[in-house]
This record gives sequence, C-alpha cells and structure tokens, in this order.
Amino acid sequence: MIIDSHIHIGKWSEVFFNYTSTVEQAIYVMKSSGVDAAVCMPTDSTSNHELFAQTIDNRDFKFYYMAWINPMDPELDKFLENNINRISLFKIHPSLQKRRITDPSFVKYLALAESRRIPVVVHCGRWQEIASYKFCLEVSVMFPGIPLILAHMGGDQPGLIMECAIEIARNRYNNVYLGTESVREFYFVNNAVKIVGADKVIFGSDYNLGLPSMYIPLIESLDIPATDKEQIFSGNILRLISNRS
Ligand SMILES: [Zn+2]
Repeated sequence: MIIDSHIHIGKWSEVFFNYTSTVEQAIYVMKSSGVDAAVCMPTDSTSNHELFAQTIDNRDFKFYYMAWINPMDPELDKFLENNINRISLFKIHPSLQKRRITDPSFVKYLALAESRRIPVVVHCGRWQEIASYKFCLEVSVMFPGIPLILAHMGGDQPGLIMECAIEIARNRYNNVYLGTESVREFYFVNNAVKIVGADKVIFGSDYNLGLPSMYIPLIESLDIPATDKEQIFSGNILRLISNRS
C-alpha cells in the first residue's frame, strides 16, 4: 500500500506564478501512480475551509487532511475548532510564513498539536536563518509529545540531509521523522534511512509540484528489506495518524 503523505491542492500565489490544480486532477494523478491514499493540504492561496470541504468526504479517493497553519490567517482558529477531530496533521511552512517555527505565533498551535498528539509536518529548506531543521529539533525538545515530520528530509540538499539524520540519531530525537518529498539524491536518501532507521522515514511527493511517479522508484531502490519499504510507504504515517487523540 502506498500513501502519499505530502500533497498540495489549490492555487499558489506568485511564488509559483499562481499555478492552480484541482482535486480531480490530484485524484487522477494519485490513482494512475498506484497511490492508495494521500495526505492533502492547501497551497498558500487556497483556504483550509475550501480544500477540506472538497476532500474530507470524497467518494472517489481517500484523503487525510493536513491543516495549513498560518498564524496570520484570521479564519484559522475557527476552522481548527470546528474540524479538529477530522484533521489528521498540521503543516507549518516557515519559509512562506517568513518566520521560524520557534516564533511565538506558532506556540498555541504546537500546544494544541501536542495535547492531541497531532503530527506536525514542517517545511525544512536551505534558508537556514528561517527554515533550518535545527529549529525543529528545538521544538521537539520543547514539545516532546508532538510527532514532528521534517519535510524534504531536513533540508532538500544532501549536506543538510546527512547532517540532520546524524543529529537525530546521535541525540535520539524519538519523535522526529523525515519526509522524503521532493528529495532526489537516492544515494544520500539511502544513507540517511540507514542512519535514522526506516521506522522514521515517511514517503511524500510534494505533488502538485512533484509527481508520485517521480519519487516512488527512489524508495523502491533503497537497499533495505521490503518490510521496511512498506513502513516508509504507509506503515509509519498510518501509525502516527491512528495514535492521535
Ligand atoms: Zn510541500
């Protein structure tokens, strides 16, 4: 079974030239790539409310919903209050929000995630002043009850990926996971998986920017047992989603 644990649906702002994709397009791409279910979140110009309404009870495909946590969104608190029991994960994007995950404006959402054991996916990128994996590791110490999934395996760059994996293993961050979305360098993915363990790695494509069929072969190519690949493709995310309260 394959779950794509990181997909976007909707309209992007100028960051991606107002590029827009629909739920129907996402379902077509997921199904034709052999994906059985997907964790979906909006893009930066589509609201939680709008995407949630179109996906949560979709009859054609199984979607888990990931709420986009923008502290400046005036509708966010109401959306969370109304739908918290059906929200599977939170997503925080420090680069687009232009603030670190350690910013005080995120604290109440992190506290909510911890109280309900809601996993939080955090964009980690090359912009080290704002989106370094190191700030996520700080949050993991402050909120040890949150399963934290570091997107792009901690930085979307082999040097950052390796550094992050070593740090996680060395300091035993038990509640920290690595998401594989949009990472291409298979040799380093393989090394990082060996360092942190396959039970800490979660498959994602970053659709509508990437395609699942671009990244499924990368997981299949890993030099690990088939049972470990199964964990990466679906076992780990299902365990985290079912643990939430
Ligand atoms: Zn993404």
